[in-house]
Amino acid sequence: MTALDIQYGFIFFLIASYILQFWLTQRNVRHIAAHRAEVPAAFSDKISLEAHQKAADYTITRNKFGVIELSFSTILLAIWTLGGGLQYLDDLIRAYNLSPIYTGVAVIIGLSIISGILDMPFSLYKTFVIEEKFGFNRLTLKMYFTDMIKQTLVMLIIGVPFLGFVLWLMDDASPYWWLYVWGSWFGFSMLMMWLYPSFIAPIFNKFTPLEEAELKNKISNLLERCGFTSNGVFIMDGSKRSSHGNAYFTGFGNNKRIVFFDTLLNSLQHDEIEAVLAHELGHFKRNHIKKRIASMALMSLGGLALLAWLIDQTFIYEGLGVTQPSFYMALILFMLVTPVISIFLNPLFSLLSRKHEFEADEFAAQNTDANHLITALVKLYEENSNTLTPDPLYSSFYDSHPPAPVRIAHLKSVNTA
Ligand SMILES: [Zn+2]
Repeated sequence: MTALDIQYGFIFFLIASYILQFWLTQRNVRHIAAHRAEVPAAFSDKISLEAHQKAADYTITRNKFGVIELSFSTILLAIWTLGGGLQYLDDLIRAYNLSPIYTGVAVIIGLSIISGILDMPFSLYKTFVIEEKFGFNRLTLKMYFTDMIKQTLVMLIIGVPFLGFVLWLMDDASPYWWLYVWGSWFGFSMLMMWLYPSFIAPIFNKFTPLEEAELKNKISNLLERCGFTSNGVFIMDGSKRSSHGNAYFTGFGNNKRIVFFDTLLNSLQHDEIEAVLAHELGHFKRNHIKKRIASMALMSLGGLALLAWLIDQTFIYEGLGVTQPSFYMALILFMLVTPVISIFLNPLFSLLSRKHEFEADEFAAQNTDANHLITALVKLYEENSNTLTPDPLYSSFYDSHPPAPVRIAHLKSVNTA
């Protein structure tokens, strides 16, 4: 293989992944527009026409904007690589004659800052125009920038030293560097998962223990019935940023927390909250978290083994617009180019995720009343303006959760079984 083969191969995947995503999104927009006039029969007594049309308009607006974003990021990736942008940045920083590790850290920070700035107009538009227009946004510009500064500081304090460590392992040139990187990356991820609920999440949100006696009682009964221990049920002030509601589990090992957005708590009845929680517990009890960690570990091991082979093939750098190969350029190219190819595996990951959602729903149906989960889901779909009528192909490609009609039909079937 030659540099030219790599270049043509990359251009092929770049264009193919763009066309595929563009086509799927167009299909989704058309499908939703075609079903906008009427609420699907199964929901006609539960969801108003107004809410149905709002969900359609919201999804179409976001999809159309997504295509603009996709076009921009595709062109940008071509400029970074084939256009010589990465090499230009590397040359600029090399002029300071730092050690290879510091140069690598600086190039990666530079790339992140430039990408962050270029992405900002899109992120501002999404929050302050689209979310605002549909009544979901609660952020002010001041809060938006405060969040950004906090995120940058967290990255600088935690992410950059770890990045330096990884580059040091890569620079060491031991033939097993990729195994050491894999081990440290895995350890680091586990540590972050463990630290996240009590040390990182509180930087951005306030967490207050759930006090409401009746609900607290219901929840501890459910936890006991399912044999689950956590160190607390917390309410998060999600309403300060957005009116979208959610519930999740966070943490790892002995530092697990159950978190409800205050927005969710305000819109659901106690029985419905219990059912939503039972669904989340189902993810734990059916070992979805462990499976996810194991597959993440395997995929990163495979990725690093591949990178260890690619790192010495100078024609690959050349084919991707980098004339001066280095270990940090290998890492950057790998991070930038892999998604263009791995996007084609998306349907597989979505399928696995939807399988887990069905299993968690079954667990909830066994341990609480499935009807409560159904009414909770209908409320959540309505309040979050999730469309009931996505294009089936688009949905099977992207959706980590089954569309509402499919999910509710499944819940009804396990409930009567
Ligand atoms: Zn779930």
